[in-house]
Amino acid sequence: MTREEQIPERTFVPDGLDTAQRRGRACASCGKRWPRPRRPVGRLLNGTPIRVCDDCTVQAEAVEPSEGSAAPSRLR
Ligand SMILES: [Zn+2]
Repeated sequence: MTREEQIPERTFVPDGLDTAQRRGRACASCGKRWPRPRRPVGRLLNGTPIRVCDDCTVQAEAVEPSEGSAAPSRLR
């Protein structure tokens, strides 16, 4: 059984994320690569989905919106 993955409509800036995190291969919260993070929390500005472990939560702060664009969030 497969279903379309639900990715929240939330945008993050990649600041503070390493390469694996930016590619959705590591948890955006704790940085753990295995077990693979499964829970999508949003997308980076370039559209790449980012994920966290099932037991991790994302702490994000809003970034000041630049003119004419939606406000992304910054992970910390
Ligand atoms: Zn994690």
